[in-house]
Amino acid sequence: MLPKVAIVGRPNVGKSTLFNRIIGTRLSITDDQPGVTRDRIYSKATWLSKEFFLIDTGGIELGDAPFLTEIKAQAEIAMEEADVIIFVVDCRSGVTDDDTYIAKLLYRTNKPVILAVNKVDDQKFRENIYDFYALGLGEPIPVSSSHGIGTGNLLDLVLESL
Ligand code: GDP
Ligand code: MG
Repeated sequence: MLPKVAIVGRPNVGKSTLFNRIIGTRLSITDDQPGVTRDRIYSKATWLSKEFFLIDTGGIELGDAPFLTEIKAQAEIAMEEADVIIFVVDCRSGVTDDDTYIAKLLYRTNKPVILAVNKVDDQKFRENIYDFYALGLGEPIPVSSSHGIGTGNLLDLVLESL
């Protein structure tokens, strides 16, 4: 069985962008239905010849469930299914109440949680990453999923904690 890595985080922080960056494809190319962007949820991925399964829990939807119920279900799936969890936040919005809510859910797991601070496209955003120590999940790791900056370092840390 391949190890499983789950991506969690509130909407719009860049989970799908990170997922696509890691699996190395672009949805707009692989999606054959025009105008329909359905996120992929599971994929096999490889980093430095190690194989693993990647799960984008943001793509797991519960129909009409309230927002926080959905986020909670996604975090619970991650904690149950994954060997390592990547918790994604957004350096441009700072720590939000929803980030804090997810962090508190993740305190209950004894699986490794790696805190990825996304959208650090530019050096000038780097100073924002320290705010995320307040989430109580250790060192915030800066990445830019859309530019592919820091994602190699993130994957090194993910695979080291497997
Ligand atoms: P999700 O809802 O967490 O899956 O977020 P998405 O991957 O759909 O991204 C939400 C928005 O953030 C989109 O407009 C992305 O293009 C944008 N985004 C994702 N990653 C980055 C990044 O590293 N830098 C910037 N500037 N924008 C990003
Ligand atoms: Mg998404």
